[in-house]
This record gives sequence, structure tokens and C-alpha cells, in this order.
Amino acid sequence: AMPLVSSVSTSIAAREGLLIRNRTQFEIARSIDKVVFDKTGTLTEGQFGVDAILPTKGILDEDLLQLAYSVESQSDHPIAKGIVRKGEEENLSKLSVTEYENLAGRGLNAKVEGEKVSIVSPGTMKERNLSFDKKTFDQFSQDGKTVVFVIKENTLQGMIALSDRIRSSALQTIQLLNERGIESIMITGDNEKVANSVGKELGLTHVFAEVLPNEKSEKIKQLKENGTMKVAMVGDGINDAPALAEADIGIAIGAGTDVAIETADIVLVNSDPRDVINIINLSKATYKKNI
Ligand code: ADP
Ligand code: MG
Repeated sequence: AMPLVSSVSTSIAAREGLLIRNRTQFEIARSIDKVVFDKTGTLTEGQFGVDAILPTKGILDEDLLQLAYSVESQSDHPIAKGIVRKGEEENLSKLSVTEYENLAGRGLNAKVEGEKVSIVSPGTMKERNLSFDKKTFDQFSQDGKTVVFVIKENTLQGMIALSDRIRSSALQTIQLLNERGIESIMITGDNEKVANSVGKELGLTHVFAEVLPNEKSEKIKQLKENGTMKVAMVGDGINDAPALAEADIGIAIGAGTDVAIETADIVLVNSDPRDVINIINLSKATYKKNI
């Protein structure tokens, strides 16, 4: 049978909005050294809104948005949802899309009415040797806005700038961890300027940007410093699952993807990052008597 302290803590945990899926990992939570947070959907709400439509000269705003709307309708990425909402608000019709292909951490490829279309990250623009207006890009990204690039047949059609809101408890969570001597680190596939802008608002000194999905777990491994550091990872996306598995404690945002939730040791039912503090408190209260 479950020891008394453990069963008591399970009901307290449930009341606090914590779903403990793995008790061994929950026990380790009292000695966490570092907490790694995913940005989009974890420290932020993951609900993007379109702030600006920036077509290449000679292209209409509406045509750029219609192209992006048509293709992003095939994706369930938070960026895609923001663009789709905007297209719907503008009552745009959809063009016919075929050969849709998701490029994890980079964007997507498809054919729209037979022409090759991609919507990608700034890093992918560089990889493909495509140039863009750096000044405009910098203005938006320094402001914390995510900019994506719409390409048709290797020609830039324009940029779309989107923004997401930082979760209301994110700053306090990082401050509370700091007071306990626990280091907070942010990891994201988003651009470095956006990541630094969000990081600055949250008082984070360690930010890893433009990290591809397969590289996230590698970063966690490094941060464990050969097992001398106990590392928790908090994330919501499919992309975060390998990192959640690699961490000493994997913590999923309740509103996150099924894959993240199934991989995690603990689920934050209320999707509130501040509940990480409750995990540590509860782990300490539960296990100190048994050592
Ligand atoms: P995060 O770690 O912030 O969740 P992802 O790894 O999912 O980010 O994506 C990294 C980057 O790839 C995004 O910031 C964006 O530039 C690009 N990207 C991914 N999916 C899409 C999409 N559906 N449309 C446009 N851009 C995308
Ligand atoms: Mg995320």
C-alpha cells in the first residue's frame, strides 16, 4: 500500500492542480537545481494575434494574408492559429492547397494552386539564402513579436508579425525560484531577438533561442552536467516531449498537447507555471520526514 504521507500528498496535490504521474520523479522535485521553461505556450499563453501584415512591394496585404491563411489552415501550430483567425476575421476565401508538409521548428511547405509556397522562420530564410528587410524585421522582433516569412516560388511575398502574451504569473514564478537559489532557463525555437525580449521582461539571464525540436533534449542533457544538477523541464508542445523525457522531472502544461502530457511526470492542470513552486513545496513537505 501507499505510505500514508504519500496518499495525503496526492490529495493535496490534486487540490493544488497538480497531477502526479510519477511519484519517484515527484520525490526528486525537492532538490531541483534548474528549471528549464519552453517559451511559447509555457511562459506565454501561446495564443498569437496578427499585429502587422508586411507585403513585399507590389503585393496587396489581402493577397499575402489569403496565401498564408490558406496554407496555415492545414497546421495546428499556435502561429498558424493566429493567422487563420485573422483570415477568418477578414472573411477571406481559401485557395486550394496540396502537398502540405510540416517542417518541425522551421515552418511549412505546400503547393497553392500548383505553385510552391513556404512559410518559415528567419533562421530558415538564412538557410535558404533568401534576403529580407532586416530593419523592419529587427523592429518587430526587438519588440518581442514573432515574424514569419511567406515565400512563393523562391520569392518573398512578405512578412507577418504576430505577438503572444506572457502569462501573468510567469515573472513571479521566476522570482520565487530565484529566491530559492533555483536557476530559471528559457528554451525556444523562436528567433533570438524575440527570445531575448521576452527573457528580459522576465528577468532571465539564460535564454536559448532558435533551438530545433531535436536539439531541445540535448540542451537538457548538457544542463544536467553529468548528473550533478537536477533539472526540471516545463513544456507544452510535441517538440518538448523529448526534453521532458530527458529532464530529471518533466512537467507538462495541462492545456498542452497530448504527447507532452503523456511524457511528463507531473501535469500542471491549471496551466499555471507558478504551480512549479507548489510542486517543490509539496515534495519537500512530503519527503523531508522520511529521510
Ligand atoms: P517554439 O519552441 O517557440 O514552440 P517551434 O519550434 O514550434 O517554436 O517553431 C519555431 C519557429 O518555426 C517559429 O518561431 C516560426 O518561425 C517557425 N514555424 C513553426 N511552425 C510554423 C508555422 N505553422 N507557420 C509559420 N512559421 C512556423
Ligand atoms: Mg511551446
